[in-house]
Amino acid sequence: MQNPALDMHALIARLFPICRSITGDGVRETLRILREHIPIEVREVPTGTEVFDWTVPKEWNVSDAWIKDAKGRKLIDFRKLNLHVVNYSSAIHQRMRLDELRRHLFTDPERPTVVPYRTTYYEESWGFCLSEEQFAQFEDAQEYEVLIDSSLQEGYLTYGECFLPGEEENEVLVSCHICHPSLANDNLSGVAVAAAWARELAGRSHRYSYRFLFIPGTIGAITWLARNEAVLPRIQHGVVLTCLGDASDLTYKRSRRGDAVIDRAFCHVLKHSGQPHSIIDFFPYGYDERQYCSAGINLPVGCLMRGRHGEFPEYHTSADNLNFVRPDALADSLAKCLAVVEVLEGNRVYLNRKPKGEARLGKRGLRSDLALLWVLNLSDGDHSLLDIAERAGLPFATIKEAAGALSATDLLDPL
Ligand code: ZN
Repeated sequence: MQNPALDMHALIARLFPICRSITGDGVRETLRILREHIPIEVREVPTGTEVFDWTVPKEWNVSDAWIKDAKGRKLIDFRKLNLHVVNYSSAIHQRMRLDELRRHLFTDPERPTVVPYRTTYYEESWGFCLSEEQFAQFEDAQEYEVLIDSSLQEGYLTYGECFLPGEEENEVLVSCHICHPSLANDNLSGVAVAAAWARELAGRSHRYSYRFLFIPGTIGAITWLARNEAVLPRIQHGVVLTCLGDASDLTYKRSRRGDAVIDRAFCHVLKHSGQPHSIIDFFPYGYDERQYCSAGINLPVGCLMRGRHGEFPEYHTSADNLNFVRPDALADSLAKCLAVVEVLEGNRVYLNRKPKGEARLGKRGLRSDLALLWVLNLSDGDHSLLDIAERAGLPFATIKEAAGALSATDLLDPL
């Protein structure tokens, strides 16, 4: 990578125009582009496949959509902005008056300049999203010609999986949703950070195996879980990445377990970053942590975000565009993920070989300092380096370095 921050932003810009959905060619095209950066296996799951309490839906594709006035002028044009079509709209080509068309038009009265984002995944219907300003051009007496050239038929649900084997079979799961059309923060930012994270790890050896999922929200996570129950016991740590490019401070949402190592690792990294941030408890709403933390799955999977689900004004509107995501915010999000990797990878348990009384550091060429004393004191076989770092109030890297120095003597061994 030349400059990860700019590379991530450039990837978002390239993926931005693609009309994605929970199924269809937009997801395939997105994965094809991601494969230029990282090794991704593309999985195709047929329509009708039962996945837990759900069924893989029909595949949706759209090639064109517009509304023309009586003079043939396009008032709304999907090719200018794919948010204009309610995602998963069925096909239509018809003339109608505004009173009939009106119930298929969606605006955001509170923000007259933006186009809202809507879906109709599980109910066959059609519609257009437009700004209040665009709607003001429509007149009661006129007849409009409406076209949605879409198909909803037997096909596949497509997702991508990038698996990077490590020294251990135990895994770290990183998941992001790839089902939104032209929306940058939610969630091309998550996709770009996940891809950059995978690319970073692909170039080096690591203890854990890492599994990056690029999946449609909800149905994709449920499909993956239903097909991979045998893998679940190997998942030791996990995180859902979403909305990581806006200017807000980072928020980490704990897993349902609340005190998993991944929860503690993110809390530790954010605390020692010195930057403002929030830690919030799990609640069963939000992104795919809902699936990974459902009652019968209960994986140690948290969620990292900046702007929170539904709470920033650009959320699910045309204002969530390329100007809304910032290279520096993307880079900072990635840096925190990589710092968490350092904690997870280095979090081992050591044993003090001279635990009776304090060992003499000086005769082993070590200068007494607090980190060394904490590591010796708590390396009784029951405490990991993260336990020690938390109790000592010191950065993990400092504790790990102390353990490294002590391991070079006869005082400390890995358990
Ligand atoms: Zn969303």
